[in-house]
Amino acid sequence: MNALQTFEHYIDGVFSYPTERFESVDPSTEAAWALMPQADAADVDRAVTAAHRAMHEGPWARMTATERGRLLYKLGDLVAENAAEIAKLETRDTGKIIRETKAQIGYVAAYYRYFAGLADKHQGAVVPIDKPDLDVTLRPEPIGVVAAIVPWNSQLFLSAVKLAPALAAGCAVVLKASEDGPAPLLAFAKLVHQAGFPPGVVNILTGFGPECGKALTTHPLVSRIAFTGGPATARHIVRNSAENLAFTTLELGGKSPVVVFNDADLESAANAVVAGIFAASGQSCTAGSRLLVERKVAQPFLKLLADKARAIRIGNPQRMETEMGPLATARQVAHMERTVAASIVQGAECITGGSRPRGLSQGYYVSPTILFSHDTDLPCFREEFFGPVLSATVFDTEEEAVAKANDTVFGLASGVFTTNLARAHRMTAKIHAGIVWVNTYRAVSPMVPFGGYGMSGLGREAGMDSIRDYTRTKSVWINT
Ligand code: NAD
Repeated sequence: MNALQTFEHYIDGVFSYPTERFESVDPSTEAAWALMPQADAADVDRAVTAAHRAMHEGPWARMTATERGRLLYKLGDLVAENAAEIAKLETRDTGKIIRETKAQIGYVAAYYRYFAGLADKHQGAVVPIDKPDLDVTLRPEPIGVVAAIVPWNSQLFLSAVKLAPALAAGCAVVLKASEDGPAPLLAFAKLVHQAGFPPGVVNILTGFGPECGKALTTHPLVSRIAFTGGPATARHIVRNSAENLAFTTLELGGKSPVVVFNDADLESAANAVVAGIFAASGQSCTAGSRLLVERKVAQPFLKLLADKARAIRIGNPQRMETEMGPLATARQVAHMERTVAASIVQGAECITGGSRPRGLSQGYYVSPTILFSHDTDLPCFREEFFGPVLSATVFDTEEEAVAKANDTVFGLASGVFTTNLARAHRMTAKIHAGIVWVNTYRAVSPMVPFGGYGMSGLGREAGMDSIRDYTRTKSVWINT
């Protein structure tokens, strides 16, 4: 048997291996392949203390914004140069297909470079108050130590939208990788080190939520929490951090609607719907998991979708020709199977999928699944699967489409497919979600703020303004 690969924590500029470790499983084989370091409260305390020290003493505190930008740019370059190796590790540890991990790393480099450019463009202000003897200036200062916590599905990307603006603003960060699939972030720590950030500015560790995550979010030296994950965890974090009143942003789940009108280009809408739900095996917060299709075109459109879903090549995620890999954990498979079964018992029709794909007896594989129901009060329309399940229904009027689209506690993303420009404008105004894509799905950019309404979260990430969320304003009043 091959020895398990080992990974280390990165704390205060040093790579270290704690006594506690846990095994990481390759989702495509269900076999353990690596040993991961397991941080406890003492490790977290060391990391936060190092970050606090780095912010207040040492070179980081004295560095100019332009110098911070240079380091970030170098990090972006290193990510791009090492993309192939890191993508392979992410695929191994999470099951996400290599095509997707490679493509996403290109975005990750772009996010670091974007915020590198912004580092020295974030300015204060002079306020012309109506008292001539007083000079008032506003100084943006780094907010303090940032605790960044991410889930397993896109760790490099979800941490880049936190780390890049935080570092551009001059903060120091403790980044907690998910206990599921932490390999790519632990490997990324080597690039942070190589880029030359001073010790303690970026600390990367992993461990379990109730111990490591809790220790991080309750630490008195943490001033800012940037969290991506599920709503239940978010509530724990908000309760736990109440003592320290750390400023918190939350990027949470979704149950995003995709509305297809009969005047849409059905072929391109079908391609977008299929990619919108089945990319990353549905394990994406913006997955377009509820399809609302106008009744007149429902039958041919659902047939088109089912044919495309059945044609998806499922298998070894490391192969470039694979189009869908396994889910990341056995827990995800069980949750998906339970929710599909409950929805079918309550009346949903399974148009395609719903079971393990043929010929794949090992690995956390499930087939792309499409459920249909006129009744949308079923678990498949209410609960986030975080798996490859599309729940479809029909509508007759634009008003009904809006009502059904907004019939959710979430509000992260949405899609509208129509060739009627006026209708597209009306829909974008009425849909209750942080993102509305029209005749496209899942486009992102470092320049565009990202975040949800309702149970999908609090605050926004990316875009120019996100640096502001890592600063606090000091007003300085000088009697002249
Ligand atoms: P999760 O909430 O279980 O875990 C996320 C992270 O929180 C992990 O690192 C985990 O260790 C940590 N954690 C768990 N308990 C904690 C605690 N008590 N204190 C501090 N940290 C704790 O989420 P998951 O199942 O890993 O990921 C799936 C969820 O993430 C889905 O709901 C998905 O929609 C959401 N997500 C949202 C976005 C977005 O940008 N909106 C992106 C990706 C995923």
